[in-house]
Amino acid sequence: MNPLLEVKGLKKYYPIQSVGIGKLKSFVKAVDDVSFEVQEGETFGIVGESGCGKSTTGKSILRLTEPSDGEVIFQGQNLIKLKSSELRKMRHYMQFVFQDPYASLNPRMTIGATLEEPLKIHGLVKGREIRRKVKEMLEIVGLTEHHYHRYPHEFSGGQRQRIGIARALITNPKLIIADEPVSALDVSIQSQILNLMKDLQDQFKLTYIFISHDLSVVRHISDRIGVMYLGRMIEMAPKNSLFENPAHPYTQALLGAVPQTNNRIARERIVLTGDVPSPANPPSGCTFHTRCPSCMDICKTDKPEFKQTADQHWVACHLFS
Ligand code: SF4
Ligand code: MG
Repeated sequence: MNPLLEVKGLKKYYPIQSVGIGKLKSFVKAVDDVSFEVQEGETFGIVGESGCGKSTTGKSILRLTEPSDGEVIFQGQNLIKLKSSELRKMRHYMQFVFQDPYASLNPRMTIGATLEEPLKIHGLVKGREIRRKVKEMLEIVGLTEHHYHRYPHEFSGGQRQRIGIARALITNPKLIIADEPVSALDVSIQSQILNLMKDLQDQFKLTYIFISHDLSVVRHISDRIGVMYLGRMIEMAPKNSLFENPAHPYTQALLGAVPQTNNRIARERIVLTGDVPSPANPPSGCTFHTRCPSCMDICKTDKPEFKQTADQHWVACHLFS
C-alpha cells in the first residue's frame, strides 16, 4: 500500500539573535528531522507537551509555515518544491482545522459566506451550486441551513468547531490536519466532535493527522501515534503497541501521568523531574537525558537514532540500540 503522505527529515529552524563576538547564528529547532508516513484512510496522532513542535510539524507539512528542510510527498509530489501557484492548486486536497475555531473564523462574515469562500477561491463549484453545497455541508456537520446567515459569535464553542470542520471539508480534501481541535471544548462536547470526525472519516474516506497534548483524546481517535519531545519524534507505534508496550522512557512517563481507568494497564508511575528544557538551548545527546530516570553516560553525548524495534514500532533511545 502506498502512503498518502510521506514526511522525510522535516525541519523548521527559527533563527535567533545571538550576542557577542563573531555573532554565531543560532536557531530554535522547533522541528528537527521528523519523518513518518501516513496511510490512506488512517488517523496518525501526534502527541507531546506544549512547545514540542507538534503544531509546527502540522503547519510545515501544509506550508502554512515554510519548513527549513525536508520533503513532504503527497500523492507523489514533493510539496516543499512546489511554486506557490502550484501549491495553491493542491491546497483543496489538504485542509487544516485549528484549535480555536473562533479565532480562525472572520467575525464579520456569516457562516454561509465563510463556507462559500473556499469553494470560490478554488473554483470548485459555480453559481447556485455554491449555496446548495454550503447548505448540504452545514447539515453534514450537524448544523442547519438556518445557520447560514448567522455570525460566529452566535454559536457555542462546539458549534464553531463544527463550522471549522465544515470549512475544511467543503473542498473535498483527502487529508485533514487537525491541531488540538477539541482542546478548547468541554469534555462532553469533545466526544461529540471526535465522534463527528470519525463519522466523517468513514463517510468521506478521509485521512487525518490529529495533533493533541491530550493522550486520552489521541488514543480515542488514532490508529497510530507519534510522540514528540523537543522537536523530535521519539517514539512511533500503532496505538495499542504504544499504550501496552511504551518503549521510550518519556512515553512511559507520559502514560504514567494519564489517570488509569483500567487496572489491566495500571503501571508504576514515573514522575518526570525538571522542566522541559528550552528548545533554544536543548541538552546534548538525547535531549531527554536531563529528565530521564534511565539516563546512561552515552545519552549525554550521542543522539540516539530513530530505529525500528518491533513491527511498526520505532524508538529513539540508547536502551534499544
Ligand atoms: Fe533516557 Fe538515554 Fe533513552 Fe534518552 S537515550 S531516553 S536519556 S535512556
Ligand atoms: Mg500547539
